[in-house]
Amino acid sequence: MQRQQSSLKVRASNWLFGLSGPKLHRTYRIRLLVQWLFAGICLFLGFQLTRFYMAAKAGQLPLPQRPPGVEGFLPISGLMGILDWVYQGTLNRIHPAATILVLVVLLTALLLRKSFCSWICPVGMMAEYLARLGRKIFSRNFRPWRGLDWTLQSLKYLILGFFVWAIFGMSGAALQAFIQSPYNKVADVKMGLFFLNLGQVGILVMAGLVVASVFIQGAWCRYGCPYGALLGLFSWLSPVRVERNADKCIDCSLCDKVCMSRLPISRSTVVRSVECTGCVDCVAVCPVDDALALTAAGRRMSIPAYAAAILMLFVMGYSAARLTGLWANDISDEEYVHRIQNMDDPAYGHPGSSSTRGVQAE
Ligand code: SF4
Ligand code: SF4
Repeated sequence: MQRQQSSLKVRASNWLFGLSGPKLHRTYRIRLLVQWLFAGICLFLGFQLTRFYMAAKAGQLPLPQRPPGVEGFLPISGLMGILDWVYQGTLNRIHPAATILVLVVLLTALLLRKSFCSWICPVGMMAEYLARLGRKIFSRNFRPWRGLDWTLQSLKYLILGFFVWAIFGMSGAALQAFIQSPYNKVADVKMGLFFLNLGQVGILVMAGLVVASVFIQGAWCRYGCPYGALLGLFSWLSPVRVERNADKCIDCSLCDKVCMSRLPISRSTVVRSVECTGCVDCVAVCPVDDALALTAAGRRMSIPAYAAAILMLFVMGYSAARLTGLWANDISDEEYVHRIQNMDDPAYGHPGSSSTRGVQAE
C-alpha cells in the first residue's frame, strides 16, 4: 500500500511538471494551449496599443488601429458600462468592448465556473508558473495558518464590496460624467503607460506580489483579486461541477494536493466552492477512472468539450459585438491625437481626485 502511494506521488509530481501519463499530458496540454493562446492575444494587444500610442503622441495621422480588446483590462469601466447601459438604454461609445468583455466573462462564470481564472487570465497563468517555481525551490508551496488564510481571503470580498458600493451607488448623471470624462476616454492608454513606466512604488508592489506568489500558490488570486471574487459568486450558480464517486475513490488525496484552491475534494461528493476555478487538475490527476469527473447539470463533460465551450463563449461574444457595431468606440483619430498629446494636463486626472476637482473638462 505504501509503495503504491509513493508511486502515485511520483506520478502526481511528474504531472505537475507535465512529464507523464497520456491522460494527464492531454489535459495539461489543453489548458496550457488555451492559456498561451490568450496570453499571446494579450501580448499582441499590448503591442498594437503601444504602436497606436506612439503614433498619436507623434501626431502621425491616420493612426494605426487601436485594439478595442485592450478594454478587457478595464473591468471597472466595464461594470460601469453595464449599469450605464441599464440607465441610458444604450451602450456607451467610449469603452463598449470593456462592457462586452465583462458580460462575456460573467456569463462564462455563470455557465462554466470561474474558468476565466485558470484558463484565460494571464495573471492566473503567471501565478501558476510562479507557484511551480516555488515548488522547484522549496519542494512545496506554503500555506498560511487556516485562520489567517480565511482572514486574508476576505480581503478580496472587501475590495469587491467597495467597488460595488462605489459603482452601484452612482446616479445615472454621475456615471455619464465619469464615462465622458477626459480621464476615462484615455483610461486604456493610461493603464498601458502605468505598466510600461512603473514607478518605485509600483515596482515594489509588483515585486511583493511575485515573491508572495512563489511562496503561496496564487497569492493575488486567492487574497486580493476582486474580479475573481465576483466571478466566484457568479460561478456558484454554474451547472458545471467537479463530482467525486465515493464508491470508486481510493482516498489517495492526490486531488487535494494538486488543487490550486486547496479544496477538500477527497472529502466532498460535489465541489460547490466559489473558489473552484474549473482548472480540472484534480480530474486529470485522479488515478482511478470515473472516481472524479467534471459534470454539467449532472452529466459528464469531457475536458476538450469544456475547453471548446470556454473558447466558444469568447468567440461568440466578440463576433456578436463586431457584427452589431458594439465593439469599437467612436473616438476619432484626431481626437485621440489631441487627447494623448495633452494627457499630462490636470483635466486628465481621475474625476474623483482632488487635482481634477474644479478643473474644467473639455
Ligand atoms: S476542485 Fe478541481 S477544478 Fe476546482 S480548483 Fe480544485 S483542482 Fe481545480
Ligand atoms: S477522487 Fe481520485 S484523486 Fe481524489 S482521493 Fe479519490 S481516487 Fe484519489
